[in-house]
Amino acid sequence: MRTASGELRTFELRFKPAATSDQALTLILLSPLEERSGQAAIDALQREVLEAVALGRPLAAVMDLLCRRVEAMAPELMCSVLEVDEQGKLHPLAAPSLPASYSQALDGVQIGPSVGSCGTAAWRRSPVEVQDIATDPLWANFSALALSYGLAACWSTPILLTPERVGATFALYYREPRAVAIFHRRMVEACAQLCRVALMNQENQRQIERLAYYDGVTGLANRTLFGERARQSLQMAARMETPVAMLLLDIDRFKTINDSLGHQAGDEVLREAAQRLGACLRDTDTLARLGGDEFVALLPGCGASDASHVADKLIESLKPAHALSSDTVATLSASIGISIYPDDGADLEQLLKHADIAMYEAKRAGRGCARFYLRAMNQALDERLALETALRRALSSQGLSLHYQPKLRLVDDALVGVEALLRWTDPDLGPVPPDRFIPVAEECGLINALDSWVLEAACSQLAAWRQAGLAVPGVAVNISPLRFYQDDVAAHVQQLLHRHQLDAVQLTLEVTERLMLDDNQRSLDQLEALHAMGVQLSVDDFGTGYSSLSYLKRLPVSELKLDKSFVHDLEIDADDRALASAVISIGRSLGLSVVAEGVETAGQRQVLMAAGCPIAQGYGLARPMTPAAFESWLSSRRAEAAR
Ligand code: C2E
Ligand code: MG
Ligand code: MG
Repeated sequence: MRTASGELRTFELRFKPAATSDQALTLILLSPLEERSGQAAIDALQREVLEAVALGRPLAAVMDLLCRRVEAMAPELMCSVLEVDEQGKLHPLAAPSLPASYSQALDGVQIGPSVGSCGTAAWRRSPVEVQDIATDPLWANFSALALSYGLAACWSTPILLTPERVGATFALYYREPRAVAIFHRRMVEACAQLCRVALMNQENQRQIERLAYYDGVTGLANRTLFGERARQSLQMAARMETPVAMLLLDIDRFKTINDSLGHQAGDEVLREAAQRLGACLRDTDTLARLGGDEFVALLPGCGASDASHVADKLIESLKPAHALSSDTVATLSASIGISIYPDDGADLEQLLKHADIAMYEAKRAGRGCARFYLRAMNQALDERLALETALRRALSSQGLSLHYQPKLRLVDDALVGVEALLRWTDPDLGPVPPDRFIPVAEECGLINALDSWVLEAACSQLAAWRQAGLAVPGVAVNISPLRFYQDDVAAHVQQLLHRHQLDAVQLTLEVTERLMLDDNQRSLDQLEALHAMGVQLSVDDFGTGYSSLSYLKRLPVSELKLDKSFVHDLEIDADDRALASAVISIGRSLGLSVVAEGVETAGQRQVLMAAGCPIAQGYGLARPMTPAAFESWLSSRRAEAAR
């Protein structure tokens, strides 16, 4: 039968006898033939395509299947699916029966108000039916191309992912100008739904992948993806016998940015850093964020000299100031540790560990620089570990002792006090100097226990001497600045003085300038509390730390210890002499006593006296001594004085 629109369609007629009590009737049922078999075919197509989606087949393969099934059901038409990207550009996904060169010509075309059927449908977000490509104005710019491939009519349906966002277009092409058949419309309805499911599924997959493999803040690869890529690169490098460089980068003082400007600013800085670092690398390199402020770059085929060049570039790239808001700029620097495959490690774990060691070395070297991993660094680490273990043992097994070094008044040699100096002899390592083990104790958190032990031992020794009637005016104890952050030194001291029945003035605490310059409130409060108690505070190694002197005004300091590095060349170096007398006059004008450290020769002593230095300490006057040796030193002095 021909329909009103002139279309030729096939119907099925069914005759059904229907008798009532007085009449014999026949019902004639009329139904379009392709509709019934067609619906079954559409159902089958839906099942098949959904299964392909569920099995995780790639989007292009699913769309290709869809097109082929539709074309099998309606051989007179050709299908195409074009993806619409975020920028509104078309990209062919599937068009099994259209010539490949036609699809290629559409790739990258921008959608718009009159861009053929598909470009326009995506633009309008509603279907576009063009019955004659040759004459329709929407095809003005594209008809020649389409006609040259024998395409005459095209109906395109946009696939909406959200009401605003078009993800793709599904199009039917005819070889002659014509309207769309009703059955074809029904097919397209079903297909549009399938396309949507497949596209949404792809979006979800991408999202899952992003979450699992990419860092949410910077969009860089995360640790997992980095691990996978690195392992592949290393396998490849092993086969090709080429090097791979691993650059571990840590942003210096990032915590300060985060703490002072907030996490949002911190994230912003990380994004900016990621972008700048990425711009220094090649496509074959992998840049990842391992967490916090730590980035890693993997450079296949890159040896040591190239790696050092890249590291410099990375550090330079971070330097230009980055504006966070109209009145805040962040300037970044970074420390980089480099390890090279295969020399510095055979696998990812080794390379990362060694790059990490090198990175810490870069931090220690003053930050803002790169360091290569050296085997020696690893040895140093092992040594430090051995030292730490031995130190723990010493603390619990009386392996520690104190030596005492007199501080003497230069004009008359009077004893003004002693400094307690820690001594440690390990059964295996032998005597270990404090300059070696104090830094280790600070790093591994043993310093509190160590300094508490010293304080206790020194106070109890002083109390014992005073009880024995020995004229020891006071004892000075060195305290690590770290202890002031972690412990309540003031409370501890108070309790000790009370227990040993000592006067607060008999105790001096020697701290380095490092502590004085820290404006940590906790430290400041403790210094004030100690001062209020009457405990003396002495600035050790004065002159070696920082150039700021303003803290002398603010803090309750009572003594400066002129560092021995200024004393050593006093007789020959005019600069040292000038510095020493400057320190001495600072002390005098602020009413602080000055103790020259490391006085070894009579000449040094002479110069110091001439410059007006009141007190000195050093091998030339008296060495650090065991308590027993100190006692006999005292009594021999008494004997001498009596003579
Ligand atoms: P410091 O507080 O500046 O101690 C003075 C250091 O100079 C001592 O070294 C002492 O033996 C040494 N010395 C004294 N006179 C002379 C001299 O005439 N010439 C030379 N070249 N050196 C002299 P020591 O005992 O090796 O201590 C080194 C550093 O270790 C100390 O420097 C101090 O900062 C730290 N230290 C020592 N004992 C302790 C402690 O119980 N706790 C803490 N936290 N640090 C300590
Ligand atoms: Mg000292
Ligand atoms: Mg000193």
